[in-house]
Amino acid sequence: MHETSRVFLRKEKERPVLARHPWIFSGAIERVENAPPDGGTVEVVAADGRMLGRGYFNSRSQIRVRMWTLGEEPVDRELLARRLAAARRARERLGLRFGAGGETTAFRLVNAEADRIPGLIVDAYAGFLVFQCLTAGIDRLREELCELLVTELAPEGIWERSDVDVREKEGLERSSGSRSGVEPPARLEVREHGVRFLVDLRSGQKTGFYLDQRESRRRVAELAGSLAAHEPDAPFEVLNAFSYSGGFGVPVALAHPRARILNLDASSEALELARESFALAGLADRSELVCGDAFQELRKLRDVGKSFDLIVLDPPKFAHAKSQVVAACRGYKDLNLLACKLLRPGGHLATFSCSGLVGPELFQKVVFDGAHDAGRYASVLAKLGPGIDHPTLLSFPEGEYLKGLLLQIH
Ligand code: SAH
Repeated sequence: MHETSRVFLRKEKERPVLARHPWIFSGAIERVENAPPDGGTVEVVAADGRMLGRGYFNSRSQIRVRMWTLGEEPVDRELLARRLAAARRARERLGLRFGAGGETTAFRLVNAEADRIPGLIVDAYAGFLVFQCLTAGIDRLREELCELLVTELAPEGIWERSDVDVREKEGLERSSGSRSGVEPPARLEVREHGVRFLVDLRSGQKTGFYLDQRESRRRVAELAGSLAAHEPDAPFEVLNAFSYSGGFGVPVALAHPRARILNLDASSEALELARESFALAGLADRSELVCGDAFQELRKLRDVGKSFDLIVLDPPKFAHAKSQVVAACRGYKDLNLLACKLLRPGGHLATFSCSGLVGPELFQKVVFDGAHDAGRYASVLAKLGPGIDHPTLLSFPEGEYLKGLLLQIH
């Protein structure tokens, strides 16, 4: 029997733990007794000797402990099984059932800290599961995880996409590949609110699709549908900037029979997927693909006097550290200013930021600055965010990252 590993906190540092914040930073720790291997389980003890709960430890990360439990609940295979089952049940109650077909077959099954499995992402794509281990604590549980996913969900195949930069901070190598069952095809067809998309689970971005934008894609498509019904003869020019595989473009084109979509992305692989998904929907003739840098391409479009009825701006994360927030805001402002200039009076802008460090208020201010510098009024029609399969904990605001505004520009 090895001795229990314990992390002793400094005075007062038990407060966030008791307030259900799942991370303990190195600065909160007084000392470690019987340090486990990285990823191993520790008991967390307050300065007054109280046992607070258990978490997993990593000596290499500034986030030294991620909490599994509060109180006496043991950390074992059963805990992982229960948490996975709870995450799955939560999605089923929302109508998102793995393997059941239906209108939406691509969604998030496990959203890490918010599902109380810190560092683990599991996404469902038709009959396949894709998982991502972001931390050493979860990396150690990969085999148990796969066994549990097979028994619980009987997927056709499980694919690992632990190929993200954050693993470096945990001292982990990148790892991806087939972990059970059959390998996913190079193109897998999934549905989102009935709209068919082709995804590449092996090498597409994220785990294959930006699942977090599902509700916003529907919201924007609904708007396009209303506009189509209201103005039955008018053309409808759409700029889908940072289009990836056509996530916003395809549903908008389906909702608006006269929509012409200019999809713009820096990745030619992403645009190839977009081309195929537009073709699958029979919309090839209403989609144009431009590979390039959005900052430059938007300027070019402005310089040639182009204008649009709807613009979607869904850039990648600009701020990865606090030191990048100012530059990130400059980027958001620039893009939104250009978009406002490119919109016809009364046109619509769906604008997003997935930088967690740029909060919703700051983002709104930056978009306002952009609209103002473009000499335009912007009215907020809706505030947008991730779908209900991407929950966040109120006790863990760091888990929030995606926000958007649906605006009308006058
Ligand atoms: N709206 C998409 C997701 C966009 S993710 C959807 O609904 O699926 C951000 C995209 O921006 C990625 O596809 C990435 O390839 C692209 N990208 C990153 N930097 C870019 C740049 N400077 N110019 C254009 N595209 C860029």
